Amino acid sequence: MRDLETIDTIGVVGAGTMGSGIAQVAATSGYDVVMRDVKEEFVENGFDAIESSLDRFVSREKMDRSTADAVTERIAGTTELDDLADCDFVVEAAVEDMDVKQDVFADLDAVVDDDVALATNTSTLSITTIASATDREEEVVGLHFMNPVPVMKGVEVVVGEKTDRAVVDFAHEFAEELGKETWESDDKPGFVTNRILMPWINEGIRAYDEGVADKEDIDTGMKLGTNVPMGPLELADHIGLDICLDASQTLHEELGDRYKPAYLLKRKVDAGDLGKKTGEGFYEYD
Ligand code: NAD
Repeated sequence: MRDLETIDTIGVVGAGTMGSGIAQVAATSGYDVVMRDVKEEFVENGFDAIESSLDRFVSREKMDRSTADAVTERIAGTTELDDLADCDFVVEAAVEDMDVKQDVFADLDAVVDDDVALATNTSTLSITTIASATDREEEVVGLHFMNPVPVMKGVEVVVGEKTDRAVVDFAHEFAEELGKETWESDDKPGFVTNRILMPWINEGIRAYDEGVADKEDIDTGMKLGTNVPMGPLELADHIGLDICLDASQTLHEELGDRYKPAYLLKRKVDAGDLGKKTGEGFYEYD
């Protein structure tokens, strides 16, 4: 692990919803960022998401145009793994699939210097199992940003079986450097947030599927009735239904039947209606 003060360049693996957001907040805090995805079009999509987010900050007068332009200029997009070689710290935000994450971590282990710590943004997968694909298990930590990353304040720091305390402390400090507030979880399925959130979302989907109420009434009921900013169906669309299904399936495998994903969630994902990102989930989006 390198000292926070010596860190200049952050690697981000994955330019999707979360990776683009992490790249944006790191660049906003003055870091140079190398954002890697597997195809050029995915890297371009990541830049589009960053530019739209920055435009919203500018139009709301939370950032001036020249600052927003400087943020984009600090981010280099690539499809080449080797371009991550000079990074001082890497955050992985590829798809929620253990095989993919282990491949990414084995690749990163081979390409970055030995003293570089590696973080994963996984929602539910074991940090310890991901770390086992490397020869630096003590340098691997969970850094679970919330969606949308540029807006949400919270970051969950997840401690793997072999993670060094110094790396955990570094993860808290790095997130705070990005203007975030942190809490810590042990490496148990779903950590704190998704262990509690996913059953809530699945129950909202079941209530809709079983005709308890219209989707709008389910969301309104939970918003007005329990003082949360989004109801379960709206939030599921926002997260991505594929991500919710992956997370729910991991929790189901690890913790048993109380975590079984709702049938309608599987059916929507099979139909390719993944929520906001595909224009349709439980609601339709422009
Ligand atoms: P996403 O589908 O929007 O993006 C994932 C990106 O990873 C895609 O662009 C894909 O092409 C890329 N990718 C796949 N394999 C890769 C590889 N080998 N190297 C580089 N890039 C690769 O997914 P997301 O919502 O950004 O989720 C990313 C991670 O963050 C997941 O682990 C997810 O569980 C976690 N997460 C998601 C949310 C959320 O609300 N969406 C919140 C917290 C954490």
